[in-house]
Amino acid sequence: MDTLAALFRAVGAPLSIETITLDAPKPTELLVRIAAVGLCRTDLHVMRGERRVAMSPMTLGHEAAGVVEAIGADVTGVAVGDHVVLTFIPGCGRCRWCSKGLHHLCAEGPRITQGGQLDGTYCRHDRLGRDVGAFCMIGGFAERTVVDQASAIVIDKDIPLDLAALVACGVPAGVGAARVRAKVKPGDSVLVVGCGGDGMNVVQGARLCGAATIIAADINPTKTELARTFGATHGVTEHGEALTRAVLALTGGIGVDHAFVCIDPPATLLPAFRATAKAGNVVVTAITPDTVKQIDVPPLELFATQKAIMGAVYGFTSPRLQIPELLRLYRSGDLKLRELITQTYSLEDINRGYDDLEAGKNLRGVVVF
Ligand SMILES: [Zn+2]
Ligand SMILES: [Zn+2]
Repeated sequence: MDTLAALFRAVGAPLSIETITLDAPKPTELLVRIAAVGLCRTDLHVMRGERRVAMSPMTLGHEAAGVVEAIGADVTGVAVGDHVVLTFIPGCGRCRWCSKGLHHLCAEGPRITQGGQLDGTYCRHDRLGRDVGAFCMIGGFAERTVVDQASAIVIDKDIPLDLAALVACGVPAGVGAARVRAKVKPGDSVLVVGCGGDGMNVVQGARLCGAATIIAADINPTKTELARTFGATHGVTEHGEALTRAVLALTGGIGVDHAFVCIDPPATLLPAFRATAKAGNVVVTAITPDTVKQIDVPPLELFATQKAIMGAVYGFTSPRLQIPELLRLYRSGDLKLRELITQTYSLEDINRGYDDLEAGKNLRGVVVF
């Protein structure tokens, strides 16, 4: 069938809105009508060439939710008409990591930039008949997509699908980083550097954990103010060494128990590390461009202060566990989702949405169909 899609064709170029053809789902695949897809910064890194993908053209978009329209013969646990959230790392169910319940570490994860389906084939084709890839095995910037069942999680139908899309990436990444990776405890102090899609959800994750001090740091004062509505107790707009000094001043010279690096790790990791208390945690949730090969942290400082520097992808927990749990927290009023959406766009307007993200206007832009 034909479907409208936003394609990455070349580094530095805007996404190309084109009609592509989509093959019917294979035995373990689903045809999904996308209802909403978030404009995450990771796709922008691909457009800028900072996160390299293996092919073009490729349909970007990985923060998506929709409705199942057809299923392959071997699909189990998903039916036509089900509402699904798509996961940007598939859970193959068989590898070492999936066997331990750690789907965010699935052995298939490193292939999400390759463009192929989970089985390595291509099911999208452009007008010239060339294969079109799907970023994260999802390709959510399209009216319809075909994904393996390993990339879909069935959700309750009463959850609005524009909000469901948010729990596909930014919300679990941020909330899970605080709750699961850092294990923030009641009374702890937290620093969040970069209050965008991930960082704002670290703020609300830290609030859910009962953190007593939540310092939101962003060079954009609008975002630090907004962070207060998600639970931040302080806002700072400094960066670099001045950021470290500001955080130390707010914590009696001790530093925070947990610092989260949610934007530009090459510039923010060391200031965040130095704003962290001895034996504290520094959690990196943001992507660094492929071209940056190292970030310097003085080794003696690392040794002597006994801090831990750790990464967190997908909130360091299985999306199959976390996504339904986050939706329960939304339903009970403990998790803000609607408040994360700054603006909605049509697919044809997606490049304007990314311009707004780059201009710092959006916490989350969402394409709704
Ligand atoms: Zn994302
Ligand atoms: Zn796996």
